[in-house]
Amino acid sequence: MSHGIVHLVGAGPGDPGLLTVRAVELIARADVILHDRLIPREALAHARPDAELVYVGKEGAGAQVPQEDTHAFLLEHARAGRRVVRLKGGDPFVFGRGGEEALLLRDAGIPFEVVPGITAGVAAPAYAGIPVTQRELASAVAFVTGHEDPAKPESQLDWPALAAFPGTLVFYMGVRALPRIAERLVAGGRAPTEPVAVVERGTLPGQRTLLATLDDVAERAAELRIKAPAITLVGPVAALREQIAWLEARPLHGRTIAVTRARAQASQLASRLRELGAAVVEAPAIRIEPLPATRPDLAGYDLVAITSPNGADRFMTLLRDARELAGVTVAAIGPGTARALRERGIEPDVVPDRAVAEGLVEALREIPVTRALIARAKEGRDVLPDALRERGAEVDVLALYETVAEPLDDATRTAAAAADYLTFTSASSVRFYAQAGGALEGPRIVSIGPATSAALREHGREPDLEADPHTPAGLVEGLLRDAAS
Ligand code: SAH
Repeated sequence: MSHGIVHLVGAGPGDPGLLTVRAVELIARADVILHDRLIPREALAHARPDAELVYVGKEGAGAQVPQEDTHAFLLEHARAGRRVVRLKGGDPFVFGRGGEEALLLRDAGIPFEVVPGITAGVAAPAYAGIPVTQRELASAVAFVTGHEDPAKPESQLDWPALAAFPGTLVFYMGVRALPRIAERLVAGGRAPTEPVAVVERGTLPGQRTLLATLDDVAERAAELRIKAPAITLVGPVAALREQIAWLEARPLHGRTIAVTRARAQASQLASRLRELGAAVVEAPAIRIEPLPATRPDLAGYDLVAITSPNGADRFMTLLRDARELAGVTVAAIGPGTARALRERGIEPDVVPDRAVAEGLVEALREIPVTRALIARAKEGRDVLPDALRERGAEVDVLALYETVAEPLDDATRTAAAAADYLTFTSASSVRFYAQAGGALEGPRIVSIGPATSAALREHGREPDLEADPHTPAGLVEGLLRDAAS
């Protein structure tokens, strides 16, 4: 009988950007994914649509799956010849019971692979501005479980040895035991003034860090109601946070921004916002649907105008040979469309300063046009074709794609409504967002430009902010100014 294979994969501490390339590759190929609760939600988005996702977590108040059941699932799926990914938070071999699962698979003769992940004990401190080792301050680091009750006589931990350990102590699962951990370490000889950091939800949106000392950490953590998951780090390196904390220094730190554009286009804007420190809610209310189109015959046209990056991609795909554009004036509506054309080897002749149809009309004023082809979305505005026709040009509109409604689930709608900012990058995204039941009340509303603002007004909502220039970069600039004010 042919056996499947099991990959014991670490999913990192929570930030989806900290998944390894290998983890993403395996998730995307898996037939079955057995996963814990503490894995990035986004990790599963890489799974095949037909992959079976099975929750086998133990943490928290929700359903608890006994380890024996997890073992049984692993064997069952692997024996059925499937490609199984066992996805765990952080690293599978650091307090992840990955070792037990590896032994089980070995005994069963099932092939397996181990993919290390970035462990929370290093990552959460790093995001809090704390290096776990530092020349002259800490030459060793110990990973310790705080799970067991240090008061119990049968404690497996040697507390006097831990207290005497010449380096940084990193406690996993230690939130509830915090008072006893601090007590035991002081009793063992650590200074009550020794710095301690508790990092809650490290690398995730809403990460919080408490910097305290052994004698007051328990009280202060209780005051702040610090909850799991959290890492507790004991040692002089904790104090380096005062100088190295970098996350909180980012201009959009602590802000949540909802992005409503189509998923295919959202990633660039979302990753830019994340880089600036924002938590991003992706709430795509629209989807780009290519329309069947035949290869355009460019003979006779002296102008090709392209009014969106999508249009540029689709047009160039249809064209197949860029040389057909030789001698034709190529106009792009804005910098994003211009970039999309450049990526396909076409340098646009005309790019207006204002990235709207009116701006393009203005920029084309001095350029002779007898026959124009406008490549755009099906539902695009008629400002440009009308203006060119008025000038006596013959105009053909080539609809390359349409934007269609994408349903929003309850969780996404709620998350978007609770955001600080709700961003719209097109009039159609406003319409579809409202249609999908998205609320326009609550967050500050950011519009990319006049057409989008007009659509918002049609829905009874004046935007709080309109980007200038009318581009995603302009939108980000506007957010930065607004957040700083
Ligand atoms: N295998 C995991 C650890 C699993 S034990 C790893 O290598 O990271 C679960 C404990 O890990 C939690 O109780 C908490 O102490 C820690 N942890 C996991 N994710 C965390 C996060 N995002 N921030 C802080 N601590 C985290």
